Amino acid sequence: MENLSTDELFELYQEGFSNREFFVYYQPKVNLKNYALAGAEALVRWNHEGSMIMPDSFIKMLEKNGEIRELDYFILNCVCADIKRWIQMGKKPVQISVNLSRCNLSNENIVQIIKETIDKHSIPRSLIQIELTESAEQDDNEALKSLIWGLHEAGISTAVDDFGTGFSSLSLIRELPWNTLKIDKSLLDGAQIIGSREQMVYQSIIALAKGLGLECITEGVETKEQISLLKKSECFLAQGFYFDRPLPRIEFEKRLEMGKNND
Ligand code: C2E
Ligand code: CA
Ligand code: CA
Repeated sequence: MENLSTDELFELYQEGFSNREFFVYYQPKVNLKNYALAGAEALVRWNHEGSMIMPDSFIKMLEKNGEIRELDYFILNCVCADIKRWIQMGKKPVQISVNLSRCNLSNENIVQIIKETIDKHSIPRSLIQIELTESAEQDDNEALKSLIWGLHEAGISTAVDDFGTGFSSLSLIRELPWNTLKIDKSLLDGAQIIGSREQMVYQSIIALAKGLGLECITEGVETKEQISLLKKSECFLAQGFYFDRPLPRIEFEKRLEMGKNND
């Protein structure tokens, strides 16, 4: 992929999209109080001629030309169809988070599109969460506000993704009715040393989230030591390779049945 020009990569993407080479993988979120499955994040995967192309190789290109919007709707639609399927199969579904690129902020109808996509499948709106990253761009704040309020009023949950990596705007966290704060892996990685400034920042963010009534989850959890730190810091939701890698649908369906993770 690295050797391709942007135009060539886009052409390959379009071909791949019409050849149904795109799939959803599900990465479980685990409740650290009882090790039960607490939800999952939907992550796009491109299976091209037997090899897996990861999102970092093509998302940026799609964000530049705006095509990421179509891919995001496609993923949301797949997730809703899967949830419907699980309900019909008698499985107990969990809430699934779907990544929404900030490119969607320029679309005035975005809340309507999300509502219609979920409702079309006749599944409860509460089973979908929308993840959005922060941004330093102040100019789309108004659009962000109307999106987060619109989703809130429609009963659709929202999460601030990658919190702590960019420009963490406290006013946007305080003013908007987010449900979840997702703490980025980079903050956790620095927080292992007892008494370090990094640990203080990590723990203060968790306290802040709690104080504002937000659910808090740490992503990128890879070790037993990190699990201990999460618990000590009172962040009881975790997502990361320690428990599960992103799983193909069939594997995730087995996780839905098992429910619990052994710690
Ligand atoms: P993200 O939203 O922060 O997703 C989490 C990423 O961290 C995923 O990478 C996941 O595989 C990886 N990860 C999870 N646990 C661990 C861990 O313990 N250690 C490490 N080192 N990594 C872990 P992935 O699937 O390659 O996705 C990369 C990014 O691509 C995502 O970051 C997200 O920004 C974007 N992305 C993925 N799917 C979509 C999509 O459907 N729409 C949009 N707009 N963006 C997407
Ligand atoms: Ca995410
Ligand atoms: Ca993230």
